[in-house]
Amino acid sequence: MINNIEELGKHIKLTDDEKAWKEDGENTLPLLISDHIAKMLSNPAIRVQFVPSRKENEDTVGTLDPQCEKENSHSSRLVHRYHNRAAFLVTDRCFAYCRHCFRRRFTGKLTGEAGEEEIRDAAGYIKEHREIKEVLLTGGDIFTLPDSHIDRMLSIFKAECPSVIFRLCTRAVATAPQRFDSALFSVIKKNQTGAPYYLMTQFNHPAELTEESLKAVGGFLELGIPAFNQTVLLKGVNDDEGTLIELSEKLLMNRIKPYYLFQGDLVKGTRHLRVSIERGLEIEKNIRRELSGLGMPQYTADLPEGGGKVILTHDYLIGKDSSSYIFQTPEGEIRHYPL
Ligand SMILES: *Cc1c(COP(=O)(O)O)cnc(C)c1O
Ligand code: SF4
Repeated sequence: MINNIEELGKHIKLTDDEKAWKEDGENTLPLLISDHIAKMLSNPAIRVQFVPSRKENEDTVGTLDPQCEKENSHSSRLVHRYHNRAAFLVTDRCFAYCRHCFRRRFTGKLTGEAGEEEIRDAAGYIKEHREIKEVLLTGGDIFTLPDSHIDRMLSIFKAECPSVIFRLCTRAVATAPQRFDSALFSVIKKNQTGAPYYLMTQFNHPAELTEESLKAVGGFLELGIPAFNQTVLLKGVNDDEGTLIELSEKLLMNRIKPYYLFQGDLVKGTRHLRVSIERGLEIEKNIRRELSGLGMPQYTADLPEGGGKVILTHDYLIGKDSSSYIFQTPEGEIRHYPL
């Protein structure tokens, strides 16, 4: 584990921008790199995701909470922005902090994990709001918690809300795969009652799909928990078609469905990692030609000022005349579909 610049400097030769990174008050995302990630820092696509840079301090565009999660929350930990689903922020901790983290307002702020009272309060709210069909257990990363705390949390939620689908959202399969041992899977198995769990991973580059990480995901699959992956579109990491195609194909081969490809949020400190929507749309169009429907993630933006998620896609429907809709096929040909 590496948690300061001096220590990091012993592992890799830092650039001037990296050396000049400074903690930045409210906007600071701590430096923390797990042992697993530390071994991979020679790969530039890994390095830029975890090694901080002065560029974070120089970003004046974004805000701390572009999704306005705070205003759409029942409590400091339960975000209820979409009527039929909610996100419970289990803890602010992760095994490694991603420099592109979109929840900087919360992540790594030493809030710690939810106590029993907060869990019971959230469970009560979810139970009362019967329109909530799915709850994301996120943060931070739930798997930074000790097994006994995960057990307590899942058993409370399962007792109170047996028909709610819980998503286990984790980047730890990529950053700390050794965490997923048989004791942890026993805890999950024990609490596998009622509605199913879904595993939501974040892999951004094919190099993150190490043998250890795939084994960790495999543990969930063996319990019958389906796995979906969310990727953040990041400059210098995956903003090219070849990388994203390879990532999707590798995910599919390992029974992980590519779910979202996220446009970078307007979070302060992440500007240098964002890709333009124009380029994103071009990438979306190009990879769709190479990937199957199963392999294709949905390119999605979470709009500023709490606008929520919208899907971005190249438009194949280009117009309408008096008798038909007009389409342009991916090959550039025109087709009419009667009104
Ligand atoms: C993204 C998100 C969800 C889940 O949205 P899906 O489109 O169903 O994956 C739920 N709550 C919050 C606050 C979110 O940001
Ligand atoms: S794992 Fe998720 S919450 Fe943690 S730093 Fe990365 S993006 Fe943020």
